[in-house]
Amino acid sequence: MFWRLVNIFIACILLGITLLWIRSFVVAERLAFQKANTRVMFVTSEGSFVFIKNRVDFSDPDVQQRWFDRAGVDPVEWSKLHWAWSSDVGVFVSPDDNWLGFSMERYDRDFSQWGGPDGIRRRGLAVEVPGWFVIVLLGAWPIFWWTRHATIRYRREQRGECRMCGFAMGTAYTVCPVCGEMTRRGLTAPAIPDAASVESPIAPFSPAVGSPSSPSA
Ligand SMILES: [Zn+2]
Repeated sequence: MFWRLVNIFIACILLGITLLWIRSFVVAERLAFQKANTRVMFVTSEGSFVFIKNRVDFSDPDVQQRWFDRAGVDPVEWSKLHWAWSSDVGVFVSPDDNWLGFSMERYDRDFSQWGGPDGIRRRGLAVEVPGWFVIVLLGAWPIFWWTRHATIRYRREQRGECRMCGFAMGTAYTVCPVCGEMTRRGLTAPAIPDAASVESPIAPFSPAVGSPSSPSA
């Protein structure tokens, strides 16, 4: 039961990831979490899933204060956790040395490079994974699980055990007394056993014994 739920859960995730992947070719989207100077982002863009973590460092408190004044940042709000989902964000540009859509890039740049004030640095890490890889990885699990369990069930059946719980049933049972699983034999047998064949195995010999109820006696 537990594994059945896990498999259903993985199947739902797999479906969601697949839809996200297809959608990423149409529109780039971003889920961002920010707390103080640290920001974590998940970006879907052109078939890739990108994880980005970066932080902004100020060389001294004066630089930070000037930046807050300039950008209109409230220090109290800034220190709280915020999250935002944005659609139609800029497409993630994969570095030239990416390998089949896999890439990892560390960066450490001064804001002045982008025309910002001096004394502010942005450091970060961007990890890009192609969407198809995540789908193959998640999809491999159900295939592995199903194959493994089909093998286990087949071997148990060959040994005369219950295919679900492994109880040694031999040929005596058509339904497992432990878990209630019906054997393959049980599935094809009549639901209620024939009373004559099961309860009175000596019945065929009754006439020879001379039973008074027998018509031939
Ligand atoms: Zn069983």
